[in-house]
This record gives sequence, C-alpha cells and structure tokens, in this order.
Amino acid sequence: ERIISSQMSMEDEPMEFSLRPRFLDDYIGQSRVKENLKIYIEAAKMRRESLDHVLLYGPPGLGKTTLSYIIANELGVNLRTTSGPAIERPGDLAAILTNLQQGDLLFIDEIHRLNRSVEEVLYPAMEDFALDIVIGKGPSARSVRLDLPPFTLVGATTRAGSLSSPLRDRFGVMSRLEYYTEEELTWIVTRAADLLQVTVRAEGAQEIACRARGTPRVANRLLKRVRDFVQVKGDGVITRETAQDALDRIQVDKLGLDQVDHKLLRSIMDHFRGGPVGLETLAATIGEEAHTVEDVYEPYLLQIGFLQRTPRGRMVTPRCYQHFGVEMPG
Ligand code: ATP
Repeated sequence: ERIISSQMSMEDEPMEFSLRPRFLDDYIGQSRVKENLKIYIEAAKMRRESLDHVLLYGPPGLGKTTLSYIIANELGVNLRTTSGPAIERPGDLAAILTNLQQGDLLFIDEIHRLNRSVEEVLYPAMEDFALDIVIGKGPSARSVRLDLPPFTLVGATTRAGSLSSPLRDRFGVMSRLEYYTEEELTWIVTRAADLLQVTVRAEGAQEIACRARGTPRVANRLLKRVRDFVQVKGDGVITRETAQDALDRIQVDKLGLDQVDHKLLRSIMDHFRGGPVGLETLAATIGEEAHTVEDVYEPYLLQIGFLQRTPRGRMVTPRCYQHFGVEMPG
C-alpha cells in the first residue's frame, strides 16, 4: 500500500471519519462548487422542496463523500450511503428506495458501476419519484407504479465519462472537484492537526501540503505519519525541519513522488532516453500491468507535467529531468 495513494485504505477509516468537516463553512477549497451548492441548498430549503439530484465527479480522495455528508447536514436530512457495485439487482435498489423518507439524501459512490437493469429502476425514481414494479409473468404481467417520497440522489464518480447519458441527464447539478492548491492543503493540514491535538507550525503544515499531491486524503495520511515521528523522535512539534526529516525517511519527495514514481520516471530516462516508449513496454520494464500504470501511476505525473502521452508513447518532460538533476539527452 503506497502512502501517497489517493485511494482509501482500511487504516484511513477511523481517521477519515473524525477529520471530516461537518458543514460547508468548514470545507476548505472547491470554492465554486461550495458557493453554488450553498445557493441550491438555501433555495431548496426556502421552497421546502428536495434538493435537485447532484453528481460529484473528480479524482479519488478530493472529498466527494465528505461533501455528501455536508449536504445532508446542511439540509437537515438523513443520509443513506451505498455504492454502485453493492447494488447488484433491481430489487436491491427498490428496497433502498422504498425505505427512504421525505427529503432524504441517498449517496451512491462509484455510480458509474451500476449495472443497466439497476439503472433503469433509477430513471423513474429520479425523474418522477416513482418505482415501476412488474407483477406476474408472461402475458398476464402488468406494471404497477409506486410513489416514492421526494429525495435527493447524490452520485459520486471518478469517471463522469463512463456514465450512461440517460443517467447523466437526470442530474440537475453536476459539480467537478479539482485538485487542491498548496495553500488549501496547508489549511487542511492545520485543521486536521488541531483536531488530532498535535502542534504544527505554519511551515511544517506547508511542507506536508506540498507533498500531498493535491489530495486531502494524502495530506491527512502524511500528517499522521509525521506525527508518529515527531512524537517518538522529537518534542512532538511539527516544524519544517521535523516534517522534512520524517517525509524524507518515508521516501516521499518534495513533490509527493514516492519510490514507484521514481522507478517509472527513471526507467524512461535511463532506458529509453526520455521516450517515447509504448505503455506495454514501459509497464513490462517496471514489472507492472499496463492498466495499473495508466490508472494509478500516471494521472499525477501527467497533472504535474512530468509525463506526456503522445501517439508514439510516453515521454518525460524537461521539468522531470530538472527535478532529478539529470541532463537531457541531446
Ligand atoms: P473516495 O471517492 O475515494 O472515497 P472522496 O473524494 O469521497 O474519495 P473523502 O472520503 O470525502 O474523499 O475525503 C477524504 C478525506 O479528506 C476525509 O476524511 C476528509 O477528512 C478530508 N477532506 C476532504 N475534503 C476536505 C476539505 N475540503 N476540507 C477538509 N478536509 C477534507
């Protein structure tokens, strides 16, 4: 398990829960998404209606689940959470929907992984707050429509492009979450340190923030590791030096790159003169599956401009050479 992974691990769970902001004002960053949601929530409350269905999309660990808890809190309604792969059959979804109360918020994580037959139950539920049930079989089968209480569906996905268009079209609000800036992450680290009752100096928080890959989940995880080091080896205070020392020890560099990133980038520089090199060849060289390289390793390297995808394969950029202090081949 990589410490800089943006995916949630079992170890994160208790901490994620306690560090989760509860209201929009405690939710740092994503200002445009937040401002718009504030208005929609206010308007829905004024009209005493349920909030329009909301689709949250963006890379893992940026706060989609957190935001759905906040929306429920701000609306003062119950939250039911589930995920695309957990709803296997139409009957599973029907059971969830018929248990909702007026105004409730239903959160479906990884909504792009719902199967077609389940999705079809969702269409009338989202559009008309109705459930179409087929009774009987063969020629005597008939469809009965059940009314559902008005509710809000919040869907979360890392791949908005994989959503079918009939499903996508049924969301009134679509919000894209962006990677966080270093300044925002510094705030997030400071707030989390406060909740964890560990003293952090501004430069210490910043040191963690700049290595957190734009992702609050990573920032919180790095903070937890640094806290271990300063409590055991130091005086318990996170300063720039103690943070640097701890993060160097766990081999997360100044830009949040770990040994796996180094291996991938160095292999392109050392074995392929900086590229281009085909994905399959690259994956084989570092002993990984091509899809793992593409889905897990590459996104952040592309995001920080260290790697480029070209029609002839992957290439590292001058910026990457600079970071490693290696001269570019002529
Ligand atoms: P996934 O889809 O992988 O579950 P996610 O986008 O739903 O990821 P969350 O679980 O909501 O991510 O967030 C991860 C952690 O990051 C949370 O525990 C929370 O403490 C923290 N976090 C996320 N966004 C913010 C924020 N804007 N301000 C403060 N903390 C945040």
